[in-house]
Amino acid sequence: MTFALPEGFLAYLKEWEKIGAFIGKADFFLSPFSSKEIPDSDSPLSGLPFAVKDNIAVKGLPVTCGSRLLEHVKSPFTATAVEKLEAKGALIAGKTNLDEFGMGSSTDNSALQKTCNPWDISRVAGGSSGGSAAAVAAGLVPFALGSDTGGSVRQPAAFCGVVGLKPTYGAVSRFGLVAYASSLEGIGVLADTTARCRSVFATIQGKDDKDQTSRDAPAKAPPLDEKRGPRIIGVLSAAAVAKAITAAAVQEATKAGADALEIAAQAATLEPEIAEGFEKSKSTLAGLGHRLVDVEIPSLKYGVPAYYTIATAEASANLARFDSIRYGARPDWTENPDDLIDKAREAGFGDEVKLRILLGTFVLRSGFQDRYYLRAQRIRAGIRASFEALLGDADYTMSAQIDAILLPVFPTRAFGRGALSLPPFAQKTADLYTCCANLAGLPALSFPASVEGGLPVGMQLLGRAFAEGVLFDIVEDYEKARPFPHPPGFRAFWDAL
Ligand code: GLN
Repeated sequence: MTFALPEGFLAYLKEWEKIGAFIGKADFFLSPFSSKEIPDSDSPLSGLPFAVKDNIAVKGLPVTCGSRLLEHVKSPFTATAVEKLEAKGALIAGKTNLDEFGMGSSTDNSALQKTCNPWDISRVAGGSSGGSAAAVAAGLVPFALGSDTGGSVRQPAAFCGVVGLKPTYGAVSRFGLVAYASSLEGIGVLADTTARCRSVFATIQGKDDKDQTSRDAPAKAPPLDEKRGPRIIGVLSAAAVAKAITAAAVQEATKAGADALEIAAQAATLEPEIAEGFEKSKSTLAGLGHRLVDVEIPSLKYGVPAYYTIATAEASANLARFDSIRYGARPDWTENPDDLIDKAREAGFGDEVKLRILLGTFVLRSGFQDRYYLRAQRIRAGIRASFEALLGDADYTMSAQIDAILLPVFPTRAFGRGALSLPPFAQKTADLYTCCANLAGLPALSFPASVEGGLPVGMQLLGRAFAEGVLFDIVEDYEKARPFPHPPGFRAFWDAL
């Protein structure tokens, strides 16, 4: 069987070209799959096109990572997650835009393409998997792969009104994902429906010999198609988090850091529309029969500083491979190999990437590791322990008090394009609700909870390691109660397939 485009899809695609979801023009991504043979498969994914964030390798296609340095590089191999989807008959539609190397929360940090939010093109799609989220929200593909190091699947999913899964650390092979912060990240799924997200995750998860940190779910973990009725859901008090950060800010403020801490305290406070969506999600979940209990996680107030310390430290090591010796853009003329590397990086890396490499080498420099990197690792262990005490551990030896935790994804809805409406530092501090799942290695599912003021509001459920099935179970019922919204101009092409 070969793939045929649905009637009217090409014109529809053209209409949405304005959002810049894909790297390159629309016809780039159509050519490879319009004539493609679909392998025989009874999978629900068979014959469905999907998009791949451009930091995930697909043989023969570019893998730019949104960077000038890699603009003309093509991958010689394919990521395991992509291979598994192709084996089930899903078809790669194209590569999607991202913040350079996954560093950002807006996709404005891409050096190659502008991406906008399909709900309002003056706003960002979120990031760093903004292209994947925009493509799914606009109905160009029914699902897409992204990567989540500190929120990069869930936050753009929330901004664009789609489902976004950050799996348990190690549940999906990272082979073929260009590393940013290896101990925090993984390949995640963005999809139009919860059921679709579940079948994509079911396909890509599992141990892979090419990634030694990957593993199968332990035998005691709940099955992926778990259906068990009412649950106990812990509701994280966002007000308590904001208060704790403010208190820590007052206590720790030095002259130099006072402003930064004040921004951090402000960033934790929810925009009224997000607070409204949070309330609606609580009442919807309660209406579905779940028991809601309040939870507090005091260590969360140090989540963002710990995340950025560890993420930049790992980034400074991971990005050292980009020297433009074996591949990558090269300067026209250089004195010697060192000069080549300097000039290639100077011209090839964007400002955010340079900032993070510098920060990473700063926190790791000899004699100072105790003060930054090791302290961040201790905070990380504390955060992990607080979550384990509530949800149970990854090896299923501890008992759990609750089944999942409900919390906002981001304190604001999609903000305006350009760094002015939410400055870069405030964007970072606003990662506090997402980065904790990465620090603890836990699964988290972001879903469109409501629409407020014409923009989607996302909430997330965070679960025990390898308990993705529980999260899907809850969110699938939520979707039945409150069907997920679509941006103006949306047409459904993939439901019938
Ligand atoms: N906003 C976070 C950052 O900039 C998340 C990035 C990610 O998950 N890749 O690091």
